[in-house]
Amino acid sequence: MRNPFDKSSAILLIYTGGTIGMKEDPKTQALVPFDFSQILQEVPELRKFSSRIDSYTFDPLIDSSDVEPSMWVKLAQLIRDKYDSYDGFIVLHGTDTMAYSASALSFMLDNLGKSVIFTGSQLPVGSLRTDGKENLVSAVEIATAKNMRGNAIVPEVSIFFNSQLMRGNRATKVNSSSFDAFRSPNYPTLADAGINIRYHDHAIHYPPILHGPLQIHTTLDTRVAILKLHPGITEQVARNVLLGAGIRAVILETYGSGNAISKPWFLDIVKESAASGRIILNVTQCLAGEVDMGLYATGKALNDAGVVGGCDMTTEGALGKLFYLMGEYSDNEKVKALLAKNLRGEISK
Ligand code: ASP
Repeated sequence: MRNPFDKSSAILLIYTGGTIGMKEDPKTQALVPFDFSQILQEVPELRKFSSRIDSYTFDPLIDSSDVEPSMWVKLAQLIRDKYDSYDGFIVLHGTDTMAYSASALSFMLDNLGKSVIFTGSQLPVGSLRTDGKENLVSAVEIATAKNMRGNAIVPEVSIFFNSQLMRGNRATKVNSSSFDAFRSPNYPTLADAGINIRYHDHAIHYPPILHGPLQIHTTLDTRVAILKLHPGITEQVARNVLLGAGIRAVILETYGSGNAISKPWFLDIVKESAASGRIILNVTQCLAGEVDMGLYATGKALNDAGVVGGCDMTTEGALGKLFYLMGEYSDNEKVKALLAKNLRGEISK
């Protein structure tokens, strides 16, 4: 039993930038950000919520292509500072890097007992056919939803888009033009918004201590490179990345179930990189499915070289996890051990 319109609740909308908060300049027809403190004028539907809805606008606003880890730190600190004053948080963010930000925040916010929902839109909220209103209104409804014990129904960092609520560190942007822009290929949706909002309780992660204090982790080590394998990749490119100066970890985007080139020159570079102490994490280029380095000889060779299997993590999830773990631990062996473990529901293990 649920009481989705808890009258005493309050939600903080955090506008970071992106299409959702824009409208057409009547003179130039260019998209320009509107004054987000006036969001209730742009989306009057929000007035129908009995919850108080406050807003906070990032200064400067950014297109999400310009997102930096320092922005995630700012976001985590803001949520921590406002945590006791609000029942849930909506982060309005450009879609391009939304899955990276939601993944990172899922690791940075520890013992989260409230909803932190990222959303945005493909068309500006000020345009006639916008998907932004529906995304925003449903996200607010989910963020205010509580069970009969007064706890948030979805105490997770998630992404709401086109009627689906997805775990943040499982989502990925799959379409640059459709409203159906995100998928969670390896994990069920947390909720689906149709005539009713259906919550999938079995899929939702609850913190071990429900009313424990929120803890934030803001030391991120970004010395990570991503190497996507492709036919024709040269020895020089592989060497530059896997043995590059200042690189502590490499996410290797491999084929299928974690397979890589079996040529000796490639395996020698991987071995040299692993032997130098670098962390090499194997994730698949496939949209869905998992890495299993025991399946083929080409995968087994990576395993023998000391590469860590990323199971079914997305690249975005793997990046956020590495930034967080490397910021927390200086010991690469400790980081490798934790990479293979499920910390925030990012991996099916
Ligand atoms: N370029 C925009 C951004 O990601 C696109 C969007 O908002 O969807 O910030």
